[in-house]
Amino acid sequence: MRNRISCSAQKLSQLEPEMVESVVGGHVYKLGTQYLAENRVRVLDSDEGQINSEVDGTYGVYSQTIRLKSGTLTTKCSCPASEQPFCRHCVAVLLKNFHSQSPEEVVVKPVQKSVHEAVKEAATEIASYKSADTSKVSSSSVDFKFHEIGAFVDWIQGVMEALAKDAPLPNLPDLPPGAVRSWTEVIQDLRVRYQGCDKERIEAKTELGDCKNRIATLTQDLEKSTNEAKEYKVKYAEIRNELDRCQVMLEGHAVLVKERDRYADQMNGLRGELLRKGAELDALADSIKQVSGALQAATYTSSSIGL
Ligand SMILES: [Zn+2]
Repeated sequence: MRNRISCSAQKLSQLEPEMVESVVGGHVYKLGTQYLAENRVRVLDSDEGQINSEVDGTYGVYSQTIRLKSGTLTTKCSCPASEQPFCRHCVAVLLKNFHSQSPEEVVVKPVQKSVHEAVKEAATEIASYKSADTSKVSSSSVDFKFHEIGAFVDWIQGVMEALAKDAPLPNLPDLPPGAVRSWTEVIQDLRVRYQGCDKERIEAKTELGDCKNRIATLTQDLEKSTNEAKEYKVKYAEIRNELDRCQVMLEGHAVLVKERDRYADQMNGLRGELLRKGAELDALADSIKQVSGALQAATYTSSSIGL
């Protein structure tokens, strides 16, 4: 949220806490001092005219840009708060800037209270009021404060019952501005912050559950893929064996081809030998034929002569 207001100061360091409080009011100012005390403010860079900063808020880190120029104070914060004219975060930053410019050391008491601790301290303080000797008190203003404290005690009992049941706090009692009313506001603010933390815790738990489910799904997918990989490995081994067997068969086939070629060569050699022997037999048959003819001729001649 961005806001502009007129400002009498010429430098940001001249913005005193009292001036800031008079502008934003007691409640927002108190929240700003509390944020400062809890060391939630980080000034990134600053000079007399501008401050850039970050503040740890209820629902995250918010960024602020605060400028003072020509009598106009411009504040900008990324938070969703509707506090006017500027939010608690800008208050905390301005206070830190003021104190960092001051020569004296500022002692900031850390406030790290739970809701229960805050309620317990408030109850103790009330008890001290109740146990005080009021018989001598006659001032009407003090009587009025005791009336406020009575209303606060009634309210705080409802608060304790609500906290025990984790139920919403009862409505704030109708009190005029002052210390007692600020107690109720602080307790209510602590409760809101606690619920914010609780909401973040539940969201983180839900997110963790989602992550676990995603991991379970991924694990199932991984197991499925692993099983498929194993099946592919088995099939690969089978195909590999088949290939090896085919390779052996091919090698055997090559040996058979060689053997066949060798037998073919031998057959060709035998055929040549047979042809040669056949030619010799033909020649021998011719010779026998010639001899037989000669013998027949000789026989015929002999019978003709009358031998
Ligand atoms: Zn803010």
